[in-house]
Amino acid sequence: MRYSALSILMNGLRGNKAWKPAWRDPAPKPHYDIIIVGGGGHGLATAYYLAKEFGITNVAVLEKNYIGSGNVGRNTTIIRSNYLLPGNNPFYELSMKLWEGLEQDFNFNAMVSQRGVLNLYHSDAQRDAYTRRGNAMRLHGVDAELLDRAAVKSMLPFLDFDNARFPIQGGLLQRRGGTVRHDAVAWGYARGADQRGVDIIQGCEVTGIRRDKGKVVGVETSRGFIGCGKLALAAAGNSSQVAAMAGLRLPIESHVLQAFVSEGLKPFIDGVVTFGAGHFYVSQSDKGGLVFGGDIDGYNSYAQRGNLATVEHVAEAGKAMIPALSRVRVLRSWGGIMDMSMDGSPIIDRTSIDNLYLNAGWCYGGFKATPASGFCFAHLLAREAPQETATAFRLDRFQRGYLIDEKGQGAQPNLH
Ligand SMILES: Cc1cc2nc3c(=O)[nH]c(=O)nc-3n(C[C@H](O)[C@H](O)[C@H](O)COP(=O)(O)OP(=O)(O)OC[C@H]3O[C@@H](n4cnc5c(N)ncnc54)[C@H](O)[C@@H]3O)c2cc1C
Repeated sequence: MRYSALSILMNGLRGNKAWKPAWRDPAPKPHYDIIIVGGGGHGLATAYYLAKEFGITNVAVLEKNYIGSGNVGRNTTIIRSNYLLPGNNPFYELSMKLWEGLEQDFNFNAMVSQRGVLNLYHSDAQRDAYTRRGNAMRLHGVDAELLDRAAVKSMLPFLDFDNARFPIQGGLLQRRGGTVRHDAVAWGYARGADQRGVDIIQGCEVTGIRRDKGKVVGVETSRGFIGCGKLALAAAGNSSQVAAMAGLRLPIESHVLQAFVSEGLKPFIDGVVTFGAGHFYVSQSDKGGLVFGGDIDGYNSYAQRGNLATVEHVAEAGKAMIPALSRVRVLRSWGGIMDMSMDGSPIIDRTSIDNLYLNAGWCYGGFKATPASGFCFAHLLAREAPQETATAFRLDRFQRGYLIDEKGQGAQPNLH
């Protein structure tokens, strides 16, 4: 079933009884050419592009829970391609270009909203760093504008420009950045992959990886053994646990990241604004709620819930940027598990184990990467060669010392 304005009208006239489920609920087959572990954004996008771009459809996506239950349905929906380093920049710009055509491509309303992402700066040194980043972006053909204090003030007059500790001097703006309705991305990719013959199997937990003479031959699951040609891991926060089933130890730690939503307010923040003197970012949803978050909780955990100390930290940073937030009530908060890599950058690569492929290390910025990650992982699986924008995301870079440390924090995952 194709979605269109006409189909909405016709279904409405018929009492909305003819809508079909967006994807099937198939029983697992005994064997697939490719099994993808993890029905999050990255796993589903990989399946979609495998089928659509490379004609590989004997594929299953195994999801232990339900589609959208992981980080793809828990993030704060921000997309951007404002990266400094050459290994990152072309990849995230590919993702941005895929976002720009995504809704037409998979025929699903994902509410892609390029409302702009503004990073504030608070000191001369930070302005210089942002100037460098903006120039690097422009050299790669990515849009970037450095705004002074007056320009930011005309956009966002309610910010605390004269805060004694963190006065706002200006900001780096990417107008093509913005937000996308996160769970619609999962649904759109799931529907698009299913329509092309991919089996999306929910409630199917991978509990073991079976190997024969070293090679991966299939997975043990809560619904029995399923054989495969290639096994592709896209388990985000659970990446280390799943890889360990094949005896692989990853350069990844799992940490919690929390998100918060306020009561509905009249529209007052057009785009995404990030605080440059701490970790805080905020946008306003179409329903009027402020959607915001801050730093990760900073300790290793597989629990999808966070701690009060970080709630306090996020509230402090938010109030330092927008004093009026002190009057706003928070409606709900939740946590997701981040696969924090040692240099803050992802891995899309083959592993040292035959037939085992890895997509992981997305830290707290993997939502924006979803289209390019799926596209590049599908390319690797289909062609046995990295896609040209993802050549730097190799697993062995940690051994070779070629880190992609966008934040310049060193090998400490909780700081990226
Ligand atoms: C609070 C929060 C805010 C964020 N904000 C942003 C943001 O604004 N912008 C941005 O770019 N990124 C953001 N992120 C990061 C982003 O959401 C993640 O990097 C990205 O979603 C991870 O990829 P995924 O969608 O495939 O993950 P997931 O949706 O987590 O998919 C992984 C799936 O694997 C499944 N799985 C795990 N183990 C198994 C198993 N053994 N068997 C079967 N299935 C298994 C899980 O159930 C899960 O559904 C945020 C994350 C959080 C939690």
